[in-house]
Amino acid sequence: MSFPPSATPLDDVQRVLCVFAHPDDIDFGAAGTVARWVDAGLEVAYLLVTRGDAGGFDDTPREQMPILRESEQRAAAAAVGVKQVEFLDGYRDGILTPSIGLRRDITAAIRRFRPDRVLTNSPLRRWDRIAGPSHPDHLAAGEATTCAVYPDARNPFTFTDIGLEPWTVREIWYSGGPAPDHLVDVTDTFPRKLAALRAHVSQTSHLTDLDATIEARLAMVAAAGGLPAGRLAESFSVFSTA
Ligand SMILES: [Zn+2]
Repeated sequence: MSFPPSATPLDDVQRVLCVFAHPDDIDFGAAGTVARWVDAGLEVAYLLVTRGDAGGFDDTPREQMPILRESEQRAAAAAVGVKQVEFLDGYRDGILTPSIGLRRDITAAIRRFRPDRVLTNSPLRRWDRIAGPSHPDHLAAGEATTCAVYPDARNPFTFTDIGLEPWTVREIWYSGGPAPDHLVDVTDTFPRKLAALRAHVSQTSHLTDLDATIEARLAMVAAAGGLPAGRLAESFSVFSTA
């Protein structure tokens, strides 16, 4: 199963809500693009479903991990100019499902922030890269967010107890899915993406050559998408949800 070809992105977007399973998902997949949106004057907010409590690679006490990773994500957001960062409570890293409760919580965030565009994890698995992009938490967050975009947030008769007006999100972007075909040139914002990734100390400090690895990956994406040599890109699948 794959995505159909991407739509042409909207040109009148004012607010973007990024909903991801774990701290660092946004930064590996999309921080260069987010930095461009911030530079263009878009209002961008992050909603993290978990605090990444099952992550890490050292002997940090486990009870410290969610606190640490929340602060790392806030620092990473600041590195690309994003000021609004929220975390949901009650969801554990590693065992996320696209539950009605999660759809309700994401719907509440959408109705509060009223985004034109939502960026989220891909709900489709990449069979060629099961490890990493296709973590089951990513698939669950992508699926729950898609359901919140349509029909939950816009349906006035769904989750009426939230007490917020319905809201129609007009466009959804997926990160980390199969065969992404919408490229964003992030050459100019690459240093800020790196700063954001380095802010996730518990996740990236053990990686030797983080800079070179990420640069090579983004160069490959740019080259595969036909951008000139020397350019770097992030890639997505983009669809209308109006
Ligand atoms: Zn993740």
